[in-house]
Amino acid sequence: MILRVCALYPDLMNIYADRGNLLMLERRCAWRGIEWRLHESGLGEPLRDEHDLYYIGGGQDGDQRRCATDLLEHKAAALRAAAARGAVVLGVCGGYQLLGHSYELGAETIPGIGLLDVHTVRANGPRLIGNVAVQSIEGTIAGFENHGGRTELASGQEPLGRVLAGHGNDGHSGFEGARRANVIGTYVHGPLLPKNSWLCDLLTARALGVEPEALGPLEDSLERAAHAGALAAAGVKAAPEQAQSRPAAAGSRDAQIELRSEPPVPDGRASQPSFTVLRRHEQIELARRRLMQRGLAAGDQPLHPIQSPDPALRPDAIKSWDVELALDAIEATVARDEAVLDMGSICCAILPALHRLGYERLHGVDLDPRVLVMPFADAIGYSTQDMTATEFDDASFSAITSISALEHGLHSDALWREVARLLRPGGIFLFSTDYWPEKIDTAGTMLFDLPWTIFDAQEIRSLISDAAAHGLVPVGDPGPALLATEDRPVHFADREYTFLFGALTRTA
Ligand code: GLN
Repeated sequence: MILRVCALYPDLMNIYADRGNLLMLERRCAWRGIEWRLHESGLGEPLRDEHDLYYIGGGQDGDQRRCATDLLEHKAAALRAAAARGAVVLGVCGGYQLLGHSYELGAETIPGIGLLDVHTVRANGPRLIGNVAVQSIEGTIAGFENHGGRTELASGQEPLGRVLAGHGNDGHSGFEGARRANVIGTYVHGPLLPKNSWLCDLLTARALGVEPEALGPLEDSLERAAHAGALAAAGVKAAPEQAQSRPAAAGSRDAQIELRSEPPVPDGRASQPSFTVLRRHEQIELARRRLMQRGLAAGDQPLHPIQSPDPALRPDAIKSWDVELALDAIEATVARDEAVLDMGSICCAILPALHRLGYERLHGVDLDPRVLVMPFADAIGYSTQDMTATEFDDASFSAITSISALEHGLHSDALWREVARLLRPGGIFLFSTDYWPEKIDTAGTMLFDLPWTIFDAQEIRSLISDAAAHGLVPVGDPGPALLATEDRPVHFADREYTFLFGALTRTA
């Protein structure tokens, strides 16, 4: 086996010892008897699509500017072709920013090559500096960050992970980095790979096109200590199993990679990854199509695995946009062995989908006893309980979802008290609900034998402030989503409105 690595601008893009990433890749190849080829590509040099892993480190604004022009002129085509065939492209900090669409510095826009659907802006605020720890799907990443740029993900763009400590992409969204298939951008220096040897192995395996297990173990006590030290510096306690690579359930990652290599949905989706509002009905159809491709939506075939034998219990196809957003957020931030609760589970596709993705500790509550015969009821812990007063232990869940349930007569204080009790610190609550900025009257209308509210902007704001009183804070700024309303994409029960999706996280 040969690992062919190309280092882009190794003399300019290498601050905070990012060159250590190359050393780490090289050493681990040598220890395993994998042949190593390093090509260095600097300013003015053409680039060929013939490497397994392309690497670009962090840089100062001035150097970044010179590299950006060169990247577009001499290297973008080869990098795009390499990414499209599945080569690994790793960008750290300034390199990450260049993999996005652009880096704005005041009036100046430094263009990127757009392999990641992100934009970076150098705002007036302070630089985001310090030790950082990130929960990605496969494991915990620890290191150090120092950037002035704030990076915003487009709404279809998967983050690399959730910030456990530190600032991440922008200091407030709770997300760090971005990934699309094997293109990965992160703000984590450290350098990244020496402090996260499992990630070095994962990237090596992906670049070579083999399973990580095929690389075989190395004597990693020093590497583990470096990882634990970096986590401790960020103030995060390592769970013993988190110090190592944690491969996603077989198959699921591939399915996701396939999906991510599709072009992003071209529309005006809210760019905020946490709070967002449905703008066009077509977004529901697109989300449903993607879920179907991944085997995660209820199909039209009665024997489809997510299809309930009882037609009354079939997951509702209109709940696809929010189900996909919730699944994306969980996949990005919750490991397969962490517990997830769904509140108001009847007819909801979320738990069957998570089961198919390999999540092992799933619970769903609903007052309707037919929830007990939902698909995969043998593997998912469904129970008939009041979601505002469940029997689960405190801090039992890393994520709680509630798809289209809040609008049916919930008492907000009781709900938030229970959500705050059940989530572990740092856990997330993901919800969707019926929404229109101005009041649409539904008084006296019953749906599914339950009262019905279409929340207006003021009501959502007060829901959010009630939640804050229980230590549940919004992920990102909900403001823009609450205003964005060109269209009324949902028509139901003689009303025209939209859906709002939001995320809250439990503070410690
Ligand atoms: N110049 C960029 C910023 O400050 C990247 C810095 C870095 O690579 N550390 O945002």
